[in-house]
Amino acid sequence: MKVFKFGGASVKDADSVRNLARIIESHKSEKLIVVVSAMGKMTNAFEWLIHSFCDQSSTTKESLDHIIDFHNAILWDLFPDKKEKVYVAINELFYQLQEVLEKGRDTDYDQTYDSIIGFGELLSTSIVSHFLSKESVSNCWLDARSLIKTNSDFRQATVNWEETEKNIQANLTHSIIVSQGFIGSDKNGNMTSLGREGSDFTAAIFGYCAKAESVTIWKDVEGVLNADPKHFPEASKIDKMSYREAIELSYYGATVIHPKTIKPLENKLIPLYVKSFIHPENEGTVVQKSMEFDALLPSYIFIENQILLSISPKDFSFIAEDNLSFIFAKLAEAKIKVNLIQNSALSFSVCFENSTNKVEHLFSLLKGTFDVRYNDEATLLTIRHYNEEVLTKMTANKTILLEQKSRNSARFVLR
Ligand code: ASP
Ligand code: MG
Repeated sequence: MKVFKFGGASVKDADSVRNLARIIESHKSEKLIVVVSAMGKMTNAFEWLIHSFCDQSSTTKESLDHIIDFHNAILWDLFPDKKEKVYVAINELFYQLQEVLEKGRDTDYDQTYDSIIGFGELLSTSIVSHFLSKESVSNCWLDARSLIKTNSDFRQATVNWEETEKNIQANLTHSIIVSQGFIGSDKNGNMTSLGREGSDFTAAIFGYCAKAESVTIWKDVEGVLNADPKHFPEASKIDKMSYREAIELSYYGATVIHPKTIKPLENKLIPLYVKSFIHPENEGTVVQKSMEFDALLPSYIFIENQILLSISPKDFSFIAEDNLSFIFAKLAEAKIKVNLIQNSALSFSVCFENSTNKVEHLFSLLKGTFDVRYNDEATLLTIRHYNEEVLTKMTANKTILLEQKSRNSARFVLR
């Protein structure tokens, strides 16, 4: 059994669905679980719908029409014969969605969100499954809500692994399964979601529970690159890396693989392939146990729009446990996600994303006890497996506001 995951970009229009079907077709003789996300940017469109619905705004209908029109356009292109069964299935989903909207909002925003957001995946997988059947790829559509059981922590649900494993194991009889990424359900049958971009994680859940021989994430890039080409035009593909390296990269801010994806795969030593759906014949990247290849190529992770705060006690006292615990409590209170810290005898520096409200809140919490200075519009650059040449090149013509090195990583706050 192999697991394939296709994200929004791989089902963004009718031609992408045809391309996906060709990839599945070429693996037709294997046992597959195919996990698919919502089409294109539909999850964002569903978020607008939810937002206007909860605000009781007049744009609710417009948002809903946009979603319906988008899917219909793809349907008409893929299934010119309007008598095809897929139309019944999709209209049923539209009907269910409208029913949720008519029932009215739940008092809990997050629960309302989850009762709607997953329709993106329900629609995309129905279209994909029917199209595969039309292309003579026999397959079974499974509702992830009846397989992936979670707690009721809406929008960020935690998986009940035991139950999920039982459910998935009981459904492995079909040779090609199509199911949704990102969603599950709680013990009362309410739809839940695993956090934005959670479909990679769903693929890992299926991989773990089905004891798959591999999981493949199909993307619009050639594999995992050693930098975002937007910041670093010479970016190149990493052929092989360890689970540990993949976790480190996402910890430092790389966004290729959803961070929760790696652990379940590592636990069962299931290799993760990241491959291009545009050039499926190419090798891609494999993430596996061996760390032997990690240092072959430096990796660069850029995080923009950072602010670097330098915090010093007004009474000239040392930065020690009491000050530190006070500062951390205030950072948590202002809901700031810290990207880097450093301290000296008299000052504590902290780097995080510059969002006006949070920064102002933090300033107001600290200003009685501390002097606070800051630099904004900074970039946090992390270089894994660096060498001196790379460091010189990457910091040339930049002001280094702060620098931190460990054996494998060099980090700079730059302007
Ligand atoms: N469709 C969901 C999202 O865009 C899940 C995913 O694509 O991974 O967040
Ligand atoms: Mg997505």
